[in-house]
Amino acid sequence: MVYKTVNPYTNELVKEYANVTDAQMEAALVQAYNRYQAWRRDNNLVQRKMQLHRVADLLRRDYDHYAQVITTDMGKLFSEAQGEVLLCADIADYFADKAEEFLAPQPLKTEKGEAYYLKQASGVIFAVEPWNFPFYQVMRVFAPNFMIGNPMLLKHASICPGSAQAFQDLINEAEIEAGAFTNLFASYDQVATAIADRRVSGVCLTGSERGGAAIAKIAGENLKKSSLELGGNDAFIILDDADMDEVAQVITPARLYNAGQVCTSSKRFIVTEKNYQRFVDDVVASFKMAKWGDPMDETTVVAPLSSAQAKKDVLAQIASAVENGAQVAFGNQAINHPGNFVMPTVLTDITKDNPLYNTEVFGPVAEIYCVKDEEAAIALANDSSYGLGGTVFSMNLDHAKAVAAKIETGMSFINSGWTSLPELPFGGIKNSGYGRELSQLGFNTFINEHLVFKPYQ
Ligand code: NAP
Repeated sequence: MVYKTVNPYTNELVKEYANVTDAQMEAALVQAYNRYQAWRRDNNLVQRKMQLHRVADLLRRDYDHYAQVITTDMGKLFSEAQGEVLLCADIADYFADKAEEFLAPQPLKTEKGEAYYLKQASGVIFAVEPWNFPFYQVMRVFAPNFMIGNPMLLKHASICPGSAQAFQDLINEAEIEAGAFTNLFASYDQVATAIADRRVSGVCLTGSERGGAAIAKIAGENLKKSSLELGGNDAFIILDDADMDEVAQVITPARLYNAGQVCTSSKRFIVTEKNYQRFVDDVVASFKMAKWGDPMDETTVVAPLSSAQAKKDVLAQIASAVENGAQVAFGNQAINHPGNFVMPTVLTDITKDNPLYNTEVFGPVAEIYCVKDEEAAIALANDSSYGLGGTVFSMNLDHAKAVAAKIETGMSFINSGWTSLPELPFGGIKNSGYGRELSQLGFNTFINEHLVFKPYQ
């Protein structure tokens, strides 16, 4: 495993980072476990809340610096990276503000005695995180677990080590005690060894199905609790009564944000016959206007993909879709630039036997499906291995909510594209994973719900 930053806009090597040794891994485990024990003894929640607010302040003070690190690592637009850093500050503040409420003992009703459960730390958490939101993904795990008293060990994606190091520097600058958060440039084998270690009590991964299955297998074999946030092939359903002007405003952010490398990007646009042609025209018009270029330039809309391999993979998926009968309504032309650019592409006429039909494309590709009616739209949306997010457009709110309730998914957005806020739970079902992050649901993931019961005599 080589941890290195290769700037996706220039494809030049920026910096390579040394892997941790086994001795450093062992030292990190000792330190994290000692931190867990110390927090159990001293429960200094008030201090930790102050520290987490300090993290938020530092993020807001230095957001340009962190955004620059993120953009250099994985290529997203600088403005998007700034937004990501500010969202991390909000997440930190949210969990610091909510910690006491979320950790309060919960009374239980029983006629047999007095009962309640404590909400306690469960131990060291090992987090494996992806490159597409290099700060936000880490903060989603760090902030709640820091409040609970669960130390965190991180294995970040090998293509964004600059961000991993910057997050560690942030924690150090906030004067958070050693062991609370430790970034490790670890190999897969070292990750497996750490998960199996008795000092680690839980593991979470955000990433691909392949990565999720590998980590969940190791967790299962070692009886460790796990939580997985995996890919998605989110449906964006446009009903007969959708406001098509409103829909047109959402197309670019819903599919081209972060060059389409978002798990909850709208990937399958499902449109009833009435609005189909208008929608195809609108997507083509939006994609035509989406200027690709330097992610640091504020007029750029489409950033390079995160790596040369990612570009190769997306182009191969488009080629295979076309070989299997998909029509190119726009795009799919080579971009002559050293950066990892893929031209925004619109595909139609994707049949069920097309490999694309049930595959996530992590890039700027819109797949548009025409269906005869609402029932067919719901059936197509649900005919997927994934169930992460989804969107429903209708001017009739009750109608939109009723359709959203019929979609087999973890999150539905009505008359808007995907979003993420600290107070909203994030996660999916089916091959999109299990468990939730953010909100009180996410906070509870690695809590020990400790029952205390005193029977009546
Ligand atoms: P990936 O290959 O699974 O990588 C994610 C992380 O897992 C990286 O740190 C990777 O390390 C690590 N990893 C993979 N296999 C591993 C193993 N056997 N042992 C230890 N670590 C392992 O995912 P990706 O393709 O880069 O990321 C994109 C995927 O993430 C997409 O499918 C996307 O939809 C999903 N995603 C989901 C969410 C969500 O919340 N649901 C959010 C963002 C992204 P290396 O980099 O060293 O390989």
